[in-house]
Amino acid sequence: MSKLVSTITGREFPFGRLEEFADNGEALEVAVPNIRGARPRAGASVWERFAEFLPFKAMNASASLGEGNTPLMDAGASLKAFTGIERLLLKNETQNPTWSFKDRGSLACIFMAREMGETLTATISTGNMGHSIAAYGARAGIRALVFVPEFAPREKLMAMTMHGATVIKVHAPDYALMKKTVLGLAGEFRLRIVSGNGPIRTEGYKLTAFEMHEQMRGEPPGYIAVPTSACGHIRGLFKGYRELLAAGLITRLPRMIVVQAANNSPIVTAIKRGLKQVVPFTNVHTVAEAITTGNPMGGDEIIAKASQHGWLAEDVTEDEILEAQRVFAQAGYFVEPATATSLQAVRKLRAAGRIAPGEPVVLMLTGAGLKDLDALKFQPCSIVESSLDAVRRDLETALGSRPG
Ligand SMILES: *Cc1c(COP(=O)(O)O)cnc(C)c1O
Repeated sequence: MSKLVSTITGREFPFGRLEEFADNGEALEVAVPNIRGARPRAGASVWERFAEFLPFKAMNASASLGEGNTPLMDAGASLKAFTGIERLLLKNETQNPTWSFKDRGSLACIFMAREMGETLTATISTGNMGHSIAAYGARAGIRALVFVPEFAPREKLMAMTMHGATVIKVHAPDYALMKKTVLGLAGEFRLRIVSGNGPIRTEGYKLTAFEMHEQMRGEPPGYIAVPTSACGHIRGLFKGYRELLAAGLITRLPRMIVVQAANNSPIVTAIKRGLKQVVPFTNVHTVAEAITTGNPMGGDEIIAKASQHGWLAEDVTEDEILEAQRVFAQAGYFVEPATATSLQAVRKLRAAGRIAPGEPVVLMLTGAGLKDLDALKFQPCSIVESSLDAVRRDLETALGSRPG
């Protein structure tokens, strides 16, 4: 039987616990029994192949919207030149059903809801998680309830309502405060409110590590750069590799790179200053809207793991984020600003000699560019305005030559 374990003190809790954090605020993770003996098997989807690594009994393909199985690509010449990294790879999670990696965690949350006989699933989200849960709830016939902050982009809000979710926009001076308040209601209303760093969602994210393990034919990457907010994604990816190590399927762990916007870098600041605890940021404003958690619950675990495992951490300015979004786009990848951060982070770390040459470096492409149209107002839009009379002349100008 699986159980939940506090990630710092090791205290144990029942698997079915509603609250996603220990009473002292520490992140919880699922301890799957006999992980050492777990083995991949044949199956169409990664969660079928790695079923022995998962805690759910009630997994059913009917809950899937076709998430996962995303490409792990060579980044191409221009991104390698920009970063100075020779073996640069992109794990393109924008190809998930709702265009972000959140879908993997949402599937896990639906498995859990089914297992517990729940008919409602609730979440707190700046957008992508809410959008994802709304879609998966619609698929599974489970009601979705999403708490959003004021700054959630309209594209994501519209997606949630289109999927039929109940959306509650909570006006609050600070997102972290809002999260804490809403999570505080979970026990009272006997509601499972899944957050971005919950133990169940994290089980979905670890499947990405298993998929990369297959795609790289058992070689762990040297580094994996992850734009980090609530911390669930980076935690899940690393847990996947820890479990592969425990099962004897790999012999070393990748080093994670924690990436945040300089305007909101509670974890990166702590790691850079050698502190043990999150440095809270309030009233955060960054174009990287999807990574705006200013005081992430359970963030201390990430700081502890960073020092224990030699992870790297880097922050990125607003101008650097917008530049990276353009550089990605010019390489054929249209990503949202939060995703663009990691390109600059690895460029800076490589320039500083922190990333060893020759090692494979994976960038997680967490979300697609069309999910945040408002952020594009900061980007130049060079369109040639023409007319029926002028189009011949404008074409000549564009081509730099006349016909014939
Ligand atoms: C949620 C999200 C992140 C941050 O992931 P966490 O698990 O909250 O750390 C990064 N990028 C995008 C596009 C996201 O939607």
